[in-house]
Amino acid sequence: MSIRENFDRISEEIRKLRPEKPPEIIVVSKKQSLAAIEEAIGSGITLFGENQIKEGNEKFSELKNKNIQFELHHIGPVQSGSVKKLFDLFSCTHGVCSESGLFELKKQSDKHKKRFGFFLETNLTGENSKSGFSRKELSDLLKNPDSLGSEFCDFRGLMTMGPSDGDPAMTRNVFRDLRKIREEFAPNAKLSMGMSGDYLIATEEGSDYLRIGTAIFGERKVE
Ligand SMILES: *Cc1c(COP(=O)(O)O)cnc(C)c1O
Repeated sequence: MSIRENFDRISEEIRKLRPEKPPEIIVVSKKQSLAAIEEAIGSGITLFGENQIKEGNEKFSELKNKNIQFELHHIGPVQSGSVKKLFDLFSCTHGVCSESGLFELKKQSDKHKKRFGFFLETNLTGENSKSGFSRKELSDLLKNPDSLGSEFCDFRGLMTMGPSDGDPAMTRNVFRDLRKIREEFAPNAKLSMGMSGDYLIATEEGSDYLRIGTAIFGERKVE
């Protein structure tokens, strides 16, 4: 199946589950070739996600040079030292996972005078392999919503990932947990949750943004 056929099939599936307001799909192009991304854009897809800033900048600057339109979100954990490199091509990050990262993102957004959105990454599975705020850290941050953003930097929502083993019941619990945290502390926040293996569960649990790579592009290639 082509990239567009995969995208359409997934769009159809999620529209069946939530016809009133299906989540948006961020097409994750990490480790996919420029040719594959161009094919996706040629078929009308506009919203992409990359987790490595350098890789995203290399590929998408070529597209920008060709005057091709796209919207690019950063989806992995944000390291304070690389925040500066986000401002050429990215417009949002789903991976703010430390107070120092958040501080730097606000500082650089205001310095570049460029509107930038962010999601706070939350580790609700407790796995050491995952970045993100704990539930306690997150609730502390959300209790002071005024200090979350800055002039050019907007708090958009909460991001999480399901357990690495993909257990469906655990995955659903994690997504449900994030939704409960939203209800309690940040009712206007959007939820970024759901990937290739769990986007149907995420849709059922109220996700606003799915981040889907391999189910659209096939296996990752470029090293
Ligand atoms: C790679 C990645 C995805 C997409 O993963 P797939 O399983 O290919 O859909 C989503 N979110 C993050 C943070 C990722 O790093």
